[in-house]
Amino acid sequence: VSVAVPKEIKEGERRVAIVPEVALRLQQLGAELVLETDVGVSAGHADALYSDAKFYKQRKKVFEAAEVLLKVLPPTPEEVALMKPGTICVGFMAPYANDEGILAMKERGITAFSMELIPRISRAQSMDALTSQASLAGYKAVLMAASISGKFFPMLTTAAGTIRPSKVLVVGAGVAGLQAIATARRLGAIVEAYDVRSAAREQVESLGARFVDTGVSADGLGGYARELTDEEKKRQQEVLAARVAASDVVITTAAIPGRPSPRIISTEMVESMHACSVIVDMAAEGGGNCELTRAGEQVEHNGVTVYGPLNVPSMLAIHASEMFAKNLLNFCKLLIREGELSIDWEDQVLADSCLTHDGEIRFAAARERLE
Ligand code: NAD
Repeated sequence: VSVAVPKEIKEGERRVAIVPEVALRLQQLGAELVLETDVGVSAGHADALYSDAKFYKQRKKVFEAAEVLLKVLPPTPEEVALMKPGTICVGFMAPYANDEGILAMKERGITAFSMELIPRISRAQSMDALTSQASLAGYKAVLMAASISGKFFPMLTTAAGTIRPSKVLVVGAGVAGLQAIATARRLGAIVEAYDVRSAAREQVESLGARFVDTGVSADGLGGYARELTDEEKKRQQEVLAARVAASDVVITTAAIPGRPSPRIISTEMVESMHACSVIVDMAAEGGGNCELTRAGEQVEHNGVTVYGPLNVPSMLAIHASEMFAKNLLNFCKLLIREGELSIDWEDQVLADSCLTHDGEIRFAAARERLE
């Protein structure tokens, strides 16, 4: 089976879908690797580290050679046009957003597997790229907040006086939020956190943070949250307003698959914070959890900094690539058996994660939207 990996060419994307260690493991599965020249350079891997792989300088040739094509970012229509009909393409697919790419893949008869659609079941944990990337993002969010903040995170007793620890509030305690809590705790902050899923309380508390109880619980399908009713939103706001006002740093990570980011932090709440406090909004890509967030920008409002970084995992490209490539490798083990391609459509992981196949859109939400 030929497995090909092109460079990611979107500006600001430094991750790569294959690292040398994974290349070796794919070869052991029977894959012949075809890579674009300099494929891993942005993540620290020179071409020479990928042994026994064939390199092409011409991007077109990499796509043409692929039976299985591994990507980080969703294929654009231009990239799809380079694929042979029938190519199996695996990577992030933005199944709720990349309309043009999805239609192009459908029309070209591409079999696309979306990492976002892999079910959150125990057997698929090793393939769960949403988790691996969110965990990097949660960690980095805290470091960015700490670096913008004018305060120490830890308590310090020094000859120049005692420094009180920073108070950090994490809103949304999923994968990114939990990693943010753990990181802020390691830096010595006092941490509170909030989520609408009932399972979150125990996870928050097990990391040594206080759970903020708003009395609202909104468990949705597949272990995700659902959108709140207006009444629930109001209750949430009332309790959270006081917690936001008391925080030096707020990290927001709340998301609902396929929906715009829930608006949780109002302008009024930002105005209640003391000057020099910081909000890092990790939901910026989906519109933001804070009313003042501008995607990719750092804005100041009444002395409060609101930062909505984009593509945070790419900032940690080395480990992000390593983890993502391992997620892909584990997924490829379902596709490649004894050196041959074989897709078992009875396998829930493959069936659920398939976005397009054989000229059809398989993912219901995308089909309803686009057909
Ligand atoms: P996500 O990125 O979709 O959302 C982030 C968090 O925002 C979630 O915890 C969600 O509950 C929360 N949220 C949504 N609306 C909110 C609101 N109005 N206010 C506050 N918080 C809000 O979620 P995720 O981090 O990808 O994880 C989703 C779930 O999947 C979690 O329960 C997680 O533990 C679970 N999970 C399971 C597995 C597995 O078993 N294999 C792996 C990873 C994650």
